[in-house]
Amino acid sequence: MSRPAVFLDRDGVLVEDTGVITHSSMAHPLPGVAEALMNLHKAGALLVVVSNQSVLARGLLDEEGVIRIQRSIEDKLMSDGAPRLDGFYFCGHHPHADLEVWRSECDCRKPAPGLLLKAAKDLEIDLTTSFMVGDRPSDITAGHRAGCRTILVETGRHTAPPILTWQAFDPVDPDVVCKGLKDASRYILEAAKW
Ligand SMILES: [Mg+2]
Ligand SMILES: [Zn+2]
Repeated sequence: MSRPAVFLDRDGVLVEDTGVITHSSMAHPLPGVAEALMNLHKAGALLVVVSNQSVLARGLLDEEGVIRIQRSIEDKLMSDGAPRLDGFYFCGHHPHADLEVWRSECDCRKPAPGLLLKAAKDLEIDLTTSFMVGDRPSDITAGHRAGCRTILVETGRHTAPPILTWQAFDPVDPDVVCKGLKDASRYILEAAKW
């Protein structure tokens, strides 16, 4: 039986978007996030982080480093009362990546929906009852393309223009705009009908 998920962008949603994060000491959880995650978990949603990690293409971190930072973020959130998260999916690809191993026009770098689709397959997620929460148009577009409802939060780079690199795209409007993940979780719990 498939379950609903809440897909979460990392920077600007779970932690402050301070630019390129290359060490766990640079990752600061946003206020209200731990409580929001616990409420969504209690309601039966899987919690899955989906993140573009250009640090990989640029050779600033390896996969172990990216996973280490994610563990540290989850540890910090759990010490504030968050549940264990259910998945962490990231894309390090870029057609002009410095490192050949990441050089690819992939289908997983948001705004492409690949990370969400992979998670849905792995974790038996029902995309039609799921939500994507992000702070950028590329997050919203990825969620929309995966068939989820979408929420833009104002805790990150929502005022920055869409990133138009090799993946030029027409951004879609989110279903709703929320101040942060806590407000988003309230909206989801009302709108979800899980
Ligand atoms: Mg972000
Ligand atoms: Zn990718």
